Amino acid sequence: MLHDNLGVNEQGHLTIGGVDTLALAEKYGTPLYVMDEDKLRSNCRIYTSAFAKYMPSGSMPLFASKSLCCKRIYSVIDSEGMGTDLVSPGELYTASAAGFELQKAFFHGNNKTDADIEYAVDSGVGFFIIDNREEADKLNSYAASKGIKQKALLRLTPGIDPHTHAKISTGKVDSKFGTAIETGQAEQFIAYVLGLSNIDLRGYHCHIGSQIFDIAPFTDAADIMLDFAGFINKKYGYMCEYLNLGGGFGVRYVESDPDIDIDANIKAVSEHISGRCAANAIPVPKILMEPGRSIVADAGLTLYTVGSVKEITGFKNYVSIDGAMTDHPRSALHQSPYTVLNAGRADVRPDYVCTVAGRCCESGDLIQEDVKIVKPARGDVIAVLVTGAYNHAMAMTYNKVPRPAMVFLKDGKDSLAVRRETYADLMALDV
Ligand SMILES: *Cc1c(COP(=O)(O)O)cnc(C)c1O
Repeated sequence: MLHDNLGVNEQGHLTIGGVDTLALAEKYGTPLYVMDEDKLRSNCRIYTSAFAKYMPSGSMPLFASKSLCCKRIYSVIDSEGMGTDLVSPGELYTASAAGFELQKAFFHGNNKTDADIEYAVDSGVGFFIIDNREEADKLNSYAASKGIKQKALLRLTPGIDPHTHAKISTGKVDSKFGTAIETGQAEQFIAYVLGLSNIDLRGYHCHIGSQIFDIAPFTDAADIMLDFAGFINKKYGYMCEYLNLGGGFGVRYVESDPDIDIDANIKAVSEHISGRCAANAIPVPKILMEPGRSIVADAGLTLYTVGSVKEITGFKNYVSIDGAMTDHPRSALHQSPYTVLNAGRADVRPDYVCTVAGRCCESGDLIQEDVKIVKPARGDVIAVLVTGAYNHAMAMTYNKVPRPAMVFLKDGKDSLAVRRETYADLMALDV
């Protein structure tokens, strides 16, 4: 099996966290998001224990909210001792509603409106990650009006191409995010923010991309950021307290993806950072990282029910399911590969090549093309593996397809975390 939390029981059914997926489909209906909380927690602990072992004290992994945002996830993250990064006031509202300790929250976004800035300051968010000058100005004046100094990091772009999918790589100079080091604009930005009396500048942030399996893009980014920190330290006498290296460790979606050792990678990044700081004669800053995908992706799967199996003679076989790009947008958006199984016959060797299609009125609404599964029939349950990240989070209601429920599994017990959207919910905003 692709991940150690997946298995097959005596009836030949796929299990996750030891729980029969067909029983879950029967109890809650499909489509259904399933999150294995034990796996989720063990993913958190890989980061928290590696940070405790290898990183300077005060360093912390932050969960990237955008990968999965619901109340339940924040209680898990909070109880595992992680911080979080938030990209919008909506995520902030959700974290706050879940009782998340907002001092451990870092507020991102390349266009924070005046209302967003005021809301985040008023909520007591720990840190802003300032993207641009206009934001710095507004934050400074609002903090002044409240009589506070707001802690902040600056988002910088180190100019690294992490050799990943162009649509999800953001650390290059040409980016809507942050300010480029290479062009000299980052230096000007720092000098400017250091002159703002109600911003308490604590360090720098960068994020180079996503689904990265190699450690080199991270150490390259760290080199650029630390050399720059050393340069700023010399020229302005300002040494950053924090360096945030963003998210991006890759996850195994299909057999051909590698399985990376995150503990070993964090150790290597840490050693690399110490060496580079020594070379620059600067103290080692506290390190932050923002894993999203590598915390939640492999803890999740999605269950669907097959409606039809259509064999177009001489062409393709289409298996249509009761979900769609609405609950599984990444395949349609990024052509992302996923592993698909006939969940009721997980003990049989798959030999039926087919394209698994969603129910939307779009020919591009394909969950996965040309996958090999055990030939299904109407009523069979199909599982799409490793859907814990960027599925619920990116779900939409195109074609007025209601979004699935989400169930969490802990110690073999299931509980509803997000209820299924109803037709009435779909119309709730119509006046
Ligand atoms: C997307 C993103 C993350 C999370 O990336 P993953 O690949 O899910 O780990 C973290 N930080 C920032 C700024 C991001 O844009």
